[in-house]
Amino acid sequence: MRAAVRTGTTEGRQMGGIREIAIAGAGMAGLHAAESLREAGFEGRVTMIGDEGHRPYSRPPLSKEFLTGKGAPASVELRDDAAFEALDLDLRLGRRAQRLRPAERAIELDDGSAVAADGVVVATGARARRPDTALDGVHVLRSVEDAEAVHEAFKTEERVVVVGAGFIGAEVASSARSAGLEVTLLEAAPTPLTRVIDPRVGGVFTELHRDNGVDLRLGVGVTGFEGRGRVERVRLSDGDTLDASLVVAGLGALPNTEWLEGSGVGLAEGTGGVLCDEYCRTAVPGVYAAGDIAAWPHPRYGGLMRLEHWTNAGEQADTAVRNLLAGDGAGTPYTPVPYFWSDQYGMKIQLLGQAAPADTAEIVHGSAEDRKFVAFLGRDGMLVGVLGLRSTPKVMRYRRLLSERTTWEGALAEVNPRS
Ligand SMILES: Cc1cc2nc3c(=O)[nH]c(=O)nc-3n(C[C@H](O)[C@H](O)[C@H](O)COP(=O)(O)OP(=O)(O)OC[C@H]3O[C@@H](n4cnc5c(N)ncnc54)[C@H](O)[C@@H]3O)c2cc1C
Repeated sequence: MRAAVRTGTTEGRQMGGIREIAIAGAGMAGLHAAESLREAGFEGRVTMIGDEGHRPYSRPPLSKEFLTGKGAPASVELRDDAAFEALDLDLRLGRRAQRLRPAERAIELDDGSAVAADGVVVATGARARRPDTALDGVHVLRSVEDAEAVHEAFKTEERVVVVGAGFIGAEVASSARSAGLEVTLLEAAPTPLTRVIDPRVGGVFTELHRDNGVDLRLGVGVTGFEGRGRVERVRLSDGDTLDASLVVAGLGALPNTEWLEGSGVGLAEGTGGVLCDEYCRTAVPGVYAAGDIAAWPHPRYGGLMRLEHWTNAGEQADTAVRNLLAGDGAGTPYTPVPYFWSDQYGMKIQLLGQAAPADTAEIVHGSAEDRKFVAFLGRDGMLVGVLGLRSTPKVMRYRRLLSERTTWEGALAEVNPRS
């Protein structure tokens, strides 16, 4: 845990003429923004606006250990009371930022009040894409309430249909098996995780699900949900129909940008997030963005990058805040080595860097058959990613190659097959 203690005078040290900072969004990025402000010695007012009614909490367990047990769900607390209170925030929980009004240096909230701010950190994250149905029994998984509902349903239902074999869908399938449910996992693509991983490597995850008793159906989409009030059947694109009274959809996430409409903050084409420059600055002076919502040009990967990764939310918020306090024209470009992990069937999957289906993939340690490997991912002659299954120390060792920009050949030359 990071220290969260204020230092200095009680006068309220201002930095770069900034007296009041508003953080919109009380998630991981919002929390890190608050902590970084205080660690940097900012003693002005910090207002945190969060529509969920909870202090920032940890989402990754929601699809993992939170769901698996029959007893009380695992804790998702990120900071204890003392650490959180030491941040001395003007907390507006259960309140939505409705509109950013740069000319008035204010954020309008959904209760009609306004929060004054010379600086703003946009950290409103993303929400789960919902399937097109209002039937009960069809769930998504983003918030702690979503997870509580799924956890409760796992206690009484015998089977679940999971739609989408991306990371969240795959983790829900794994957790449901641990909780003793029968699982049908539907994926429109030819392998799980196809959005991120070469199908030749993704194939190992197909076997992982099947060996764990999941009825994995690939190349199959959902054409509709049927039932009276509550879901009873799922119609599939191959003409089949599944009986189902519990469905969990993992259909990806949509950035929460609506409240920024008309503010002058630009949106990124393609990735759909808030458009930032390499300093996490939006088009509006004094307004920075971080976390799942932010899209920015990462010089090492070309084009815009928007990550839905836990580690990124914290790291990007730290950089955004440092740059906000440094003022326009100063600061540090944000050039992280992206990092993502997933836990499925007791195995850790890790991805450093970036992965796209078209990347070259080569296993450099272990093997897919042993379900223990490290694979290099290459693009245009460069190493762009390192993917590992049950290989944490080895994956982390190659982080340096990604931060130093290493050619594909150079990366292969660094591999010691006996290590
Ligand atoms: C179930 C699940 C499992 C995950 N597992 C992993 C994992 O294993 N590994 C990994 O790397 N990543 C994982 N992630 C992703 C990770 O949790 C996210 O990348 C991270 O939470 C992003 O943090 P954030 O603060 O940017 O956004 P969020 O966590 O989305 O927080 C944004 C907050 O702002 C609120 N908000 C939205 N609009 C407004 C508004 N207008 N006004 C006020 N508040 C608003 C939202 O309700 C939310 O509370 C997982 C995500 C989920 C949902």
